[in-house]
Amino acid sequence: MSDGIELDTPVRFVKGVGPLRAEQLAQLGVTTVYDLLTYFPRRFDLRRQAQPIVTINGTEASATAAGEVVETEDRVFGPKPFFRCTLTDGTAMINARWFFGGYLRDKIKKGVTLAVSGKVSRYRECPEFVNPRLQILWDESTAHLQHDEMLPVYPAGGKLSSGVIAQLVHKALPLVPSLITPWFDREYLRRRELMPRPAAIAAMHRPEDRDQWRLARRRLAYDECLLMQLGIAILRARREVRPAYALPCTQQIDQRIRARFPFTLTPAQDQALAEIVRDLASPMPMNRLLQGDVGSGKTVVALYAALLAVANRKQAAIMAPTEILASQHFRKIEQYLAGSRVKVALLSGQTPAKKRQELLAALATGEVQIVVGTHALLGDDVRFAGLALVVIDEQHKFGVLQRTGIRGKGYAPHYLVMTATPIPRTLAMTVFGDLETCTITAPPPGRGRTVTKVVEPAGLRAAMGDIRRRLAAGEQAYFIYPLVNPSPELELANATEAYEELSRGELKGLGVGLIHGQMPPAQKDSIMRDFAAGRIRVLAASIVVEVGLDVPAANIIVINHAERFGLAQLHQLRGRVGRGESNATCILVAAGGGEEARRRLGVLEKCNDGFAIAEEDLRIRGPGELFGTRQHGLSELKVADLVEDFELLRMARRDAFEIVRNDPTLSDAHNQQLRREVIRAYAGRLDLLGGG
Ligand code: ADP
Ligand code: MG
Repeated sequence: MSDGIELDTPVRFVKGVGPLRAEQLAQLGVTTVYDLLTYFPRRFDLRRQAQPIVTINGTEASATAAGEVVETEDRVFGPKPFFRCTLTDGTAMINARWFFGGYLRDKIKKGVTLAVSGKVSRYRECPEFVNPRLQILWDESTAHLQHDEMLPVYPAGGKLSSGVIAQLVHKALPLVPSLITPWFDREYLRRRELMPRPAAIAAMHRPEDRDQWRLARRRLAYDECLLMQLGIAILRARREVRPAYALPCTQQIDQRIRARFPFTLTPAQDQALAEIVRDLASPMPMNRLLQGDVGSGKTVVALYAALLAVANRKQAAIMAPTEILASQHFRKIEQYLAGSRVKVALLSGQTPAKKRQELLAALATGEVQIVVGTHALLGDDVRFAGLALVVIDEQHKFGVLQRTGIRGKGYAPHYLVMTATPIPRTLAMTVFGDLETCTITAPPPGRGRTVTKVVEPAGLRAAMGDIRRRLAAGEQAYFIYPLVNPSPELELANATEAYEELSRGELKGLGVGLIHGQMPPAQKDSIMRDFAAGRIRVLAASIVVEVGLDVPAANIIVINHAERFGLAQLHQLRGRVGRGESNATCILVAAGGGEEARRRLGVLEKCNDGFAIAEEDLRIRGPGELFGTRQHGLSELKVADLVEDFELLRMARRDAFEIVRNDPTLSDAHNQQLRREVIRAYAGRLDLLGGG
C-alpha cells in the first residue's frame, strides 16, 4: 500500500488532488481512487514527434515543436487581435501565434511547457506557427517527445478540462502496481491472450501506441464482460437448486409426435429441437430462448416439447401475451391434436367463472395435459398435478417477475421462451443472459418474398391504385398507424380517422375494418376472425397487430409514420405479410425525420434477416434504449461494447460459467479477488453470494 491509500480511498487523498479538485471530480462521478484510475480517455490525439526547433525553416505544411514558454504577448486591440508566445527547446526559439487567441492568456504563461503542431509560415523573415494545435504537457520533461505520442483526451465537464484530468490521472497512475490486484494467473492470461490488469489500466491512459491501447482495452472489456457474466452465472446456479422432471425422448415418442404435424419439420426446426430435447432429458431445469423470425415455425417446435411432456405423463403450459394470440395458439394446437387423446384447454381472462373452476380442477388432477393461456395462468389458484414445461411466447411482453411467478409452483418447470422479435445475440447473452439460446434460422419452404419500399406520403398516394386493384383481386392488406385516435399534441395519422377515410374514399366497397388496442378483447377477436376469413379485406390498425397473427392472404402492409418505429419493430410488423405462397409488399411511409430517417429505414429495403436488423437497431439506439441493462441489475459496462465485443463476451461467458460451476460461491483461494470484484460490482444490487 502506498501511504495508506487504497482503491476505495476518497480521491482527494491522492497527492496533488486536494479538496477543490476532488469536488470537481465528484461532478464527473469520480469519488474514489479507483474511479479516477478507471476514468478512461475518450480518444487520443496523436502528437507527432517534436523536431528540434532549429531545423524548422518556415516552409513546413506541418511541424511539431515542444518547449518552454519564455515570453508571451497578448494583443487585444487592433483589427486582428492575437495571442503570441515564444518557446524554446534549447536549440532555437520559435513563435506561435493565435489570432483572436485571447482565451489562451490564462493557460499559456511563462514557464509552462507545451507542444504545438500545425502549419509553419514566415513572418518578418522568421518561421512561426500560425493557429497551431496546442497541448499543454503535464510533466516538465520533454524527454518523452522523442517519439510519436498518443495524448489522452478525457471526457471533460464542469471546471475540469481534459488537460487537468490528464494531470490528475498522471498523479494517480504510480499507485497502479501496488493497488490493482491481478485476477488471474499467468497461464490463464496466456491462453486468452490477455494482458495483466495493472498494465492494462496504465496503458488505457498512457499507451505507447495504438496496438498497446487496443490490447489494454480488450483486457478491460473482458473483465467487464466477465463480471457481468459471473453475476448471471451465480444467479443461475442458485436458481437451479430445485430439480425439474426429466423428460426423456424415445424413438417411438419422437415418431408419434411428428406424425401429428401435416408437414415434415425443416432442418432448422430439427436443429433447434435437438438442443431442446437434450435439455429436457435432464432434471436440470431448462432455461432456453427459442428465437426465430416471424413465421419460422417456432410454435410447432414448442408444441413438440409440450407433447414430450405429455408423453412422459406430465403437463405443459403455453403462455401468450394477448388473448388473440392465446386463442390462435389454442386453435392451432387443437387442429394438430384432433383425434388424439391429449387434452388441451384454453384459460384466459375471458373464461367464464364456472368453466374456469372446472378447468382448474382438471389441471390439478392432471386430466388436462396442455393448457394455453394468457397471464391468467399466473393466478394463485392455478395448480398443476405435474407441471414439467412452461412455454412463453413473446418474452419481453412479460416482466421478469411474471416469469418467476409461474416458476414458483411445484417442481421447477423447464422453461422455453419463444421470441419472434429477434433479440440480438449480444443482448440474449446479457440482459437475457440467464437463458441458453437456440435459433430457427430458415423459414419453412414455399414462402413468397416480401418486397419493401420506403416512400413519402405522396408515394403512397401514387401506389393506392395498385393496392386497390390487388385487393379487388382477393388479396388483403394491413394499414398501420401510430395512434388510435386523433391526438391534440401529436400531428400524426391515427387508425380511427384513417379507417373512416379509407372506407368512404379510395377503398370504398372493399370491406374495411378497424382494430386497435383499446377495443374490448372480444371485439378484437371477432374482427380478427372476420379478417382471417376474408370478410374484412383491409384492416386499419394500431400496432396491436404487431404480434403473431397468421393470415396467409394478407400480402400488403402499409406502415404510416414508419420513422416513429424501431427497425426491429418494423421488421416484426412486416412479418404479418408474406406468410402465404405469393410475394408480398411492405410500404413504409416516412412522413418526417428527414434524410436520417430515410437512411435508417433503407436497411429494411435491403435486408430481410431479422437478426441483422435487430443488431443494427441495437447499434443505432444502444442497449439502454432497448432494454436498459442497468435496470436489470447487471454490472455497468464502461469499456466493453456489446456489439463490437461480441466474441470477447462469448469467451467471458464461457469462462464465467465454468468458474461458477467449479466454485459457486467463489470461495476458493484463487477466486478471492474475483469474489471481491463481484461484490464491488453488484454492491447493494444483487445478493449474489449469499450475504458474505
Ligand atoms: P412462428 O410461431 O415462428 O411465427 P409458426 O410455428 O406459427 O411460426 O409457423 C408459421 C406457419 O408455418 C404455420 O402456418 C405453420 O403451420 C407453418 N409451418 C411450421 N412449420 C412448418 C414446416 N416444417 N413445414 C411447412 N409449414 C410449416
Ligand atoms: Mg408465433
